[in-house]
Formats: sequence, C-alpha cells, structure tokens
Amino acid sequence: MKNKRINLRIHHFFDIIRAFGKGENNLSPHPYGHSFHKIAMIIRNNPDLKIKNVIGCDSVCEGCVHYKKDYCDDSIDYRKDFVLKEKFNDQIDKRIIEKCSIKKGEILTTIQLCEKAKLYLDNIEFIYSGNDLWHTEQRKEDVSKGLKLYLELHKIKLDSK
Ligand code: SF4
Repeated sequence: MKNKRINLRIHHFFDIIRAFGKGENNLSPHPYGHSFHKIAMIIRNNPDLKIKNVIGCDSVCEGCVHYKKDYCDDSIDYRKDFVLKEKFNDQIDKRIIEKCSIKKGEILTTIQLCEKAKLYLDNIEFIYSGNDLWHTEQRKEDVSKGLKLYLELHKIKLDSK
C-alpha cells in the first residue's frame, strides 16, 4: 500500500474516523457493495497514505450499485432540501473544505487530514445544519473519539494550533 494514492470525498474521511470512534475497526462489506470497509482498513493502517480531495465519486464508491461511473444515483429521505445524495454530499464536502482550508484536488496525507479535524469539529453544526442536532452532536463525539484512538494507534502527537 506504500505510496498508493486514493481519491476521497472529505466527508468520507471523517465518516471513517467516526467509525473507528464507534469501535467499528473491522467493518463488514455494505449491502450496496461499495468499498467503505476496504478504504477504512487502508486508512487505519496507513497514516502516510496520500489522499486526493475530490468532490464527486471517489475510491469509496468503487463496487457500489449506485456508482454510475461519474455520478451517484442514490437518494436520501431525511432532508427536505435534498433528494439526490450526490447534491447533498457536494454541499457537505464544499462546506468542509472551505472551513478546513483544503483545496479541491489537493493531496494531503492521512495525518495532515487529522490535523484539519479540529476545524471540522469546530464547524460541524454549520456543516451538517439541517440534520437533527442530536445526530450531529453524536457524530462530533464519535469523530473526536475516533481521532484520539487513531493517533494513539500510530503514536502520533499533533501540533496544537
Ligand atoms: S455511489 Fe453513492 S451510495 Fe454508493 S458509495 Fe458512492 S456516494 Fe455512497
């Protein structure tokens, strides 16, 4: 896996860190057939992995029944303002990269993305505004916990900024 690069929507990165926080270290394949579980393992084992920030289908989407090569055809039913999952994901990712000062197409390592987590967590209510607040607060707690576990696993201390 050394030197390999993956493409990732930034919210998928934090979803993976959140899964670690929930104790989901060995994820099972999803019924959709996507690669979330595989990418989570790659990230778990590779703090130096290079991750290209994309807005659109990414390495997680590989194998998914909703992956139509250049777009996602899945829908969501928990928002009044969005039906297409792709449109909602685009909004979330644009908010995250803006708040975390990441450029579209920028390549950062896993640890460099972990360094962005504080900005993500500080802005999470804005990023997920429109979702149930209790759900966002739970997400915040799980991402914080997952980040701590990930850094402990790799014996990494982030610079406090
Ligand atoms: S194609 Fe859509 S549903 Fe499938 S993994 Fe990608 S974003 Fe998720």
